[in-house]
Amino acid sequence: MALLKIVYHPHPVLRQQAVPVTVFDDDLKKLLADMYETMYDANGVGLAAPQVAIGKQIAVIDVSEKNNEPFCIINPQIIESRGNELMSAGCLSVPNTHDKVPRATYVKVRAQNENGEFFEIEGNGLLGHCLQHEIDHLNGILYIDHLSPLKRRMQLKKMAKFLKER
Ligand SMILES: [Zn+2]
Repeated sequence: MALLKIVYHPHPVLRQQAVPVTVFDDDLKKLLADMYETMYDANGVGLAAPQVAIGKQIAVIDVSEKNNEPFCIINPQIIESRGNELMSAGCLSVPNTHDKVPRATYVKVRAQNENGEFFEIEGNGLLGHCLQHEIDHLNGILYIDHLSPLKRRMQLKKMAKFLKER
């Protein structure tokens, strides 16, 4: 396994529509293993392939407290959503920033697993939020896009300061 390099806004791959996965082979499983390792290393609860400069519809998630419930969503689609709430958000590709964004309270997602098998997952709270955040990534959307222009500028200033002082 290997740690992958996380790219930051405004890297162009973060803005592309990710392409669907059609081959479920050993290379995909190796990429997933590297993505899990990279997500845990960065203390993230989710990581989408565009964040490691791979423009494919793949994301890994683990919202458990003990980091022992990882799963991946490949070619995911939100097939049902309900409600609306403000949820605290941050992103490994917009480091050192946090703000509240409007999200659906509940979502149901249909996706494929590492073997190409379809499954459905539903969630609210942190899991529901994380599913929406990662699927946004696969559509070239960042959480800061859901903020007002003023708030977005404030967060991007915080990120620039952080990256400069690192
Ligand atoms: Zn993110």
